Amino acid sequence: MSKQHVNGKVYLVGAGPGDPGLLTLRAAQLLASADAVVYDRLIHPEVLKHARSRARLLFVGKEGGGESVRQEEINALLITQARLGRSVVRLKGGDPFVFGRGGEEALALEEAGIAYEVVPGVSSGVAAPAAAGIPVTHRGVSGSVTFATGHRAGKAPDWAHLAGAETLVLFMAGGKLEEATLALIAAGRAPSTPAAIVEAGTWEHQRVLEASLVDIAARAREASVGSPALLVVGEVVSLRSQLRSLVESRPVVSEREQFLKAEAGHE
Ligand code: SAH
Repeated sequence: MSKQHVNGKVYLVGAGPGDPGLLTLRAAQLLASADAVVYDRLIHPEVLKHARSRARLLFVGKEGGGESVRQEEINALLITQARLGRSVVRLKGGDPFVFGRGGEEALALEEAGIAYEVVPGVSSGVAAPAAAGIPVTHRGVSGSVTFATGHRAGKAPDWAHLAGAETLVLFMAGGKLEEATLALIAAGRAPSTPAAIVEAGTWEHQRVLEASLVDIAARAREASVGSPALLVVGEVVSLRSQLRSLVESRPVVSEREQFLKAEAGHE
């Protein structure tokens, strides 16, 4: 006698930028009832604690310099798990649809006829600058923000366009920082434009470097900036010097911060 088969459902869930307190309520609720959790690197261990003890935790991220599981394999895994009748949480860093390939997973599920839902998350593109004391827009300073990636499959970023952004937030800039900053300057962005790198924004080990666009890549090299990190370019970066309470509550490495700290000590 065959039992009627009912497919499960896949939830493409944003886990936020790192700090487990920035997980959405809906994400926590779904984690608490999921049969399987398929997760990436960049997910805080505390976030995974919301999962039931009986849930299957499936890691598909890249460890160190290793290879990540191929996107097709992740898609196939989600489909297989759902076809077993399971409720699957596909947990992704930040927001699933911001450079997270969530759209590709949604398309694969759509094609396979699997029910799915997207649960937005707090993107690092906004949260990491905020945690570093940088509002991505600010009245009178920047009326728009451009989110872009330093890596594009088979295609160079449109540097001329990106150089014209009021605030530019560049994801995945890590390995190509020098190339990116030189390209922006070559495309017309002033070398003196304030810039910052936010490494592991909102995590316990967050670091922020601040320098002009022309110097930031060298500063990042000196400080051995690792992943994940974002580059922020634009006048809004200068606001950090006024948002002292935000800046001082975090570990700091920039000279400006050291200066601010020293100054605060004299007050
Ligand atoms: N979907 C994610 C982005 C995935 S792409 C989001 O919305 O945040 C991965 C890139 O995001 C990293 O290379 C880095 O540039 C950026 N990133 C993710 N988490 C970050 C963090 N906590 N601090 C700084 N950058 C981060």
